[in-house]
Amino acid sequence: MTQDIVDPRTLDRLADVAISVGLNLQQGQDLILTAPMDALPLVRRIAAAAYRAGAGVVTPIFSDEELTLARYRNAQDESFDRAPNWLLDGMAAGFASGAARMAIVGDDPMLLAEEDPEKVARAGKANSIAYRPALEHIANFKINWSILSYPTLSWAKRVFPDLPDDDAVAKLADAIFAASRVLGEDPVSEWKAHNAALAERTAWLNGKRFDALHFTGPGTDLKVGLADGHEWMGGASTAQNGVTCNPNMPTEEVFTTPHAAKVEGYVRSTKPLSHQGSLIDEIEVRFEGGTITEARASKGEQVLLKLLDTDEGARRLGEVALVPHSSPISQSGLLFYNTLYDENAACHIALGQCYSKCFLNGASLSEDEVKAKGGNSSMIHVDWMIGGAETDIDGIAEDGSRVPVFRRGEWAR
Ligand code: ZN
Ligand code: ZN
Repeated sequence: MTQDIVDPRTLDRLADVAISVGLNLQQGQDLILTAPMDALPLVRRIAAAAYRAGAGVVTPIFSDEELTLARYRNAQDESFDRAPNWLLDGMAAGFASGAARMAIVGDDPMLLAEEDPEKVARAGKANSIAYRPALEHIANFKINWSILSYPTLSWAKRVFPDLPDDDAVAKLADAIFAASRVLGEDPVSEWKAHNAALAERTAWLNGKRFDALHFTGPGTDLKVGLADGHEWMGGASTAQNGVTCNPNMPTEEVFTTPHAAKVEGYVRSTKPLSHQGSLIDEIEVRFEGGTITEARASKGEQVLLKLLDTDEGARRLGEVALVPHSSPISQSGLLFYNTLYDENAACHIALGQCYSKCFLNGASLSEDEVKAKGGNSSMIHVDWMIGGAETDIDGIAEDGSRVPVFRRGEWAR
């Protein structure tokens, strides 16, 4: 139905950019793609663009909201501790043999809001455990991968609840296309320029080699120690298979690995976090020695507490990211209820697994070496937003001297 509302020519451009810039799919490379059923018009175009670029075999794996709900409403209790291991093992095998990974997101972010949080958490955990061998290829950036999104009706109705269906989809489509930089005549050049601007930020931060970042703002006074030998990344980066890709479309962030044992102070979220179908709002946590010792939320607190109990690393940070308040996604003023968008509207931190690529010579480090440098390990990686118009950030050098990094939500340099 959304086929009629979403401009097919813009979808073609998005598909082309996804394959050429997002994935930089290589001649003969296979592609494993996950998507909601509603994104079929985009999936078909992406498959066509992939084959034009020389893809080996494109394998789509679809999900459907009604099918997901059918499980929560009808399955016996034991079902929620299980996952389709055979399928996720197959994805891992595909990545191990060189396949690229693309995810199209667009599900209703509140799909599971009415379901039993206990079951949601158990199913999420079972899936995380089963997905771990596949995720390892993504988290360690062994292969080129990319996430983008499609304006489904159910998502659009969450973002624009008061609009008629068609208008809601059209507005979400506009927002997605603008943020994904595919509205102009030459999106590939626009992406080149954008990647160059982000590369300049990461070069400055990597030159500074800060020991820690100090965030202050309403409800926030947080010192985030950075991992030893951390490296800032942003925009395009090169996977271990040698392919330079854009893992997120859109992307506005520069990010690195915090030190899992060196985070101190308290922090308040600045936007709601949509996690596995539930909304968690006004998160307030205290860190001591890198770990969360107190946590509360005005909404979804049980979901948050369950998330923190996933494993030991779930209470520690695996990512810190900087995004100016003037970022186009922030200026849209929209809450997308989707991490891919909302994390690119504000500075954020992520609970859980770190990206081993965010280290000098990250590709050559073993799991133990990453850990020794302060990299966190967990089954989860959940981003939430801590930046806003009043965020100040100081970079703290090894000798204790301070350099302004952000003032009132914007780059200070
Ligand atoms: Zn991030
Ligand atoms: Zn993240």
